[in-house]
Amino acid sequence: MSLSETTLSYIETIKGFMDPEEGRALHDMALSVLSDFPYALSVEIGSYCGKSTIYIGDAVRQRSGLLVSVDHHYGSEENQPGEAYFDPDLADAETGGMSSLVVFRRTIRGANLEDVVVPVVAPSRMASQVVNGDIGFLFIDGGHSMPAALDDYRLWATRVMTGGVLAIHDVFPNPEDGGRPPYEIYKLAMASGLFEELKGVKSLRFLRRL
Ligand code: SAH
Ligand code: MG
Repeated sequence: MSLSETTLSYIETIKGFMDPEEGRALHDMALSVLSDFPYALSVEIGSYCGKSTIYIGDAVRQRSGLLVSVDHHYGSEENQPGEAYFDPDLADAETGGMSSLVVFRRTIRGANLEDVVVPVVAPSRMASQVVNGDIGFLFIDGGHSMPAALDDYRLWATRVMTGGVLAIHDVFPNPEDGGRPPYEIYKLAMASGLFEELKGVKSLRFLRRL
């Protein structure tokens, strides 16, 4: 079932970096791949305030699955005070940085997804050591530094099961449109021989594991 009007208007109220067209594509792709693999895990790297989590979570709920959403919730470089994507509402006086954790929980609760989404509050690398099982749908939208993006690719993307789908956000072939690392890992995935491209929606790329 496609996203309800109620869910779509709730999503509009959530802070974040997920374009509606890309979000719908994420939802529809998760719904479709999980119909083939009902027991496979879905994983999202980069929860922030939970916007993409609702798009994917809605599909995962329909397939009676679980969605592991990984984020240390301290924000990426560009989300820190003084940087371009800092949101003062998320300022954390205790650390002098930011935290999206409280808002993320509120989002998931408000979307009635607390029995679908398993928040993992840890860096992607640590989380990869404790989350096991075959991954049917993986969404990479975490840190945009090269080390962070490489961790996400090497530690997670390679674990997508045959027939499963890897989605990568912020893939910008033209350097003027945005940072390199997500594009670099997209290229790595394509060069690996492990994936074939299914489709692209704006900066989102969907690859199927061979
Ligand atoms: N998917 C979100 C946006 C994610 S923004 C949406 O729909 O709005 C990227 C997120 O990745 C930030 O919240 C940041 O804290 C997280 N992040 C950055 N580096 C990370 C790392 N190494 N491990 C886990 N999370 C990381
Ligand atoms: Mg993104």
